[in-house]
Amino acid sequence: MDARSTTLLVIGGGPGGYIAAERLGHAGKKVLLAEKEFVGGTCLNVGCIPTKSLLNSAKLYEHALHSAQYGVTAGDVTYDWAKVQSWKSEVVKTLVGGVTQMLKRLKVEIVPEFATLVAPGVVEIGGVRKTADHVIIATGSVPVMPPIPGAKDNPSIVDSTGLLSVPEVPKRLVVIGGGVIGIEFASLFAALGSEVTVVEMMPEILPFMDADLAKTARQSMPGITFRLKSRVEAIEGSTVSFTPEGGAQERVTGDLVLMAVGRRSLVDGWGAREAGLEIDRRGIVVDDRMRTNLPNVWAVGDATGRSLLAHAAYRMGEIAVANILDPEAHLHGEVMRWDTIPWAVYAMPESAGVGLTEAEANRRGLDVATVTVPLVLSGRFVAENGLSKAGAVKLIAEKGTGIVKGIHMLGTYAPETIWGAAAVLESEFTVSDLRQIVFPHPTVSEGIREAVWAIRV
Ligand code: FAD
Repeated sequence: MDARSTTLLVIGGGPGGYIAAERLGHAGKKVLLAEKEFVGGTCLNVGCIPTKSLLNSAKLYEHALHSAQYGVTAGDVTYDWAKVQSWKSEVVKTLVGGVTQMLKRLKVEIVPEFATLVAPGVVEIGGVRKTADHVIIATGSVPVMPPIPGAKDNPSIVDSTGLLSVPEVPKRLVVIGGGVIGIEFASLFAALGSEVTVVEMMPEILPFMDADLAKTARQSMPGITFRLKSRVEAIEGSTVSFTPEGGAQERVTGDLVLMAVGRRSLVDGWGAREAGLEIDRRGIVVDDRMRTNLPNVWAVGDATGRSLLAHAAYRMGEIAVANILDPEAHLHGEVMRWDTIPWAVYAMPESAGVGLTEAEANRRGLDVATVTVPLVLSGRFVAENGLSKAGAVKLIAEKGTGIVKGIHMLGTYAPETIWGAAAVLESEFTVSDLRQIVFPHPTVSEGIREAVWAIRV
């Protein structure tokens, strides 16, 4: 018999929930993790990982198609969608298996059942009532299906999960929504030869990205037709009717339509409201320690609606655990710092950023200096891409103090580089601090160094 008393109960086995369970397991706590569908959650099973696996295959295909420019001649370059799919499944299986094994090693009890919150410290799992000192909620999010006429029960419309496993590459794909999920799929299928149209209501794609870089990113995707400032009004079969601002209604037809207008936190169906959890338009309301309004009930990840990113979910899980284990942890910095969560888009071209955009800095009334440098200043970027591919770094710093407020990158390796930029913002480095950092050469990250010497604060 396990000598440890049940102290922790986690609802949801995605990045937020499993990292919390892992950290608690490491601390020697007895943990029970309820997961109704799949360990690894959205991210490992139908989100981050399968999309990156498919995108990697598409990037390899595109590289091979254009390899002659770099002196490498490939024969008949083709792709085999069935093999691309089975590689994706193998990757997912390997990673889900790894997380499951790790949790088992830490003696986390995984219960493959639906859980309902009854009251603080009381959860029903698969109909069995369990008690715990603390409950961590990590129920995640689900795709939004807007009430557009013709959208409901339309077999031509898929969400991201449906599109991940289509049996063949659609010849024509219409993507509704130019956010990160829409753009990654648009990029993937355009690279594989689909005729892709993105219909987006906003004036620019990727609305969280600095507007200048988002525009450059869009212009660097010539294989995709973008219809901006366009409101979708109806869908009939696979024909989407939309009206561009100030224009007349138009139609575009695909073999498939991807609905990618966003995701919403999963706060219904598991007792949240009945138990008295405070919920706002984003999701479960939490403070910067991930506490909810109920005692010893914590919420992390997409369920809070504060940041719909896996690494944000990880950090929220860690913050909750740190504050459960040590009520004074918040005094030692264990709080969420929402402004320094980086984001990344793995489209072609890739991009990433952290901190304020120029528009957000202006909205907050900050007096900032900005500079944008092209990545052709990076030797490695030119060696690997030539001069025709888009790439840039935009730096935003406060005038006077010189404190770096935002770093945004467009170009290869941006998602790999951006954690360093996040460290810069976390540490409140100034431009002159950053000038003292030695960057390896030749790297694409040297674009940041170029920007830091070009800015005038
Ligand atoms: P989830 O991963 O959604 O996990 C929640 C889990 O809770 C699920 O497994 C669910 O079955 C379970 N659950 C829910 N209710 C109950 C209940 N009542 N009882 C028991 N179990 C329950 N993020 C990135 O950072 N990088 C990316 O590249 C990226 N790509 C993405 C691509 C796509 C197509 C999608 C859809 C998402 C992507 N995301 C990406 C977002 C990322 O997947 C989420 O931010 C992340 O999964 C959130 O983790 P979570 O633990 O909060 O929730």
